[in-house]
Amino acid sequence: MSVDFLAFGPHPDDAEIGCGGLLRKMKRLGHTTGIIDITSGDMGWGTPEIRAAESAEAAKILQLDVRECLDFGDGRVEDTFENRCRVAGIIRKHRPQVVFAPYFDLPIGRGLGHNDHYKSGEIVSNAYNLAHLAKAPVEGELFQAKAIYYYFIPPGRMPTFIVDISDDWQDWLAAIDCHKSQFYHPERPRPEHRPVEAAATQRREQDAQRRNQDGERRKR
Ligand SMILES: [Zn+2]
Repeated sequence: MSVDFLAFGPHPDDAEIGCGGLLRKMKRLGHTTGIIDITSGDMGWGTPEIRAAESAEAAKILQLDVRECLDFGDGRVEDTFENRCRVAGIIRKHRPQVVFAPYFDLPIGRGLGHNDHYKSGEIVSNAYNLAHLAKAPVEGELFQAKAIYYYFIPPGRMPTFIVDISDDWQDWLAAIDCHKSQFYHPERPRPEHRPVEAAATQRREQDAQRRNQDGERRKR
């Protein structure tokens, strides 16, 4: 079975955060979907075992057809030829129409350009090309996906397009919420940073902003 939409995530929660709603929507529209985690998240909060269980739970909510972990090493992902070939092998194996990856050109810093994030973007972009080269030392039959799109676009850069996930945003948040070790860990700073609560706050603020704008407009 080929996987129509295949998302690569550096750590076990990134693909959910970056394009989980989109994957859920594509599944609802009858396509096959999958997530490949580049690392097991062994440097993060929790343990690889806990994170694997959380990932499996999120996969169920998003109704993914495939979820695999390559485990290139959390915090030490490198854009090497060997890693590009391994990812190209995954692309050949699952034969996606569309590949998703984190954006490869990020300002370095917490919450933005994590080493594993931009290097995963580089690896997947290079692998996307390698998968169709006959002489590349890559397992599987040659394959060319139709497109690669990027998530985690840095502030200030406009997305090329956006996808309306209004009908799927609750499943999207529920999938992110499965990663309890990341968002509800008692020792982790910023315990208020919980996806469902953060989304509800954002929605309340947007509603208030809209009401204010409507009020201003009526006054004019
Ligand atoms: Zn990450």
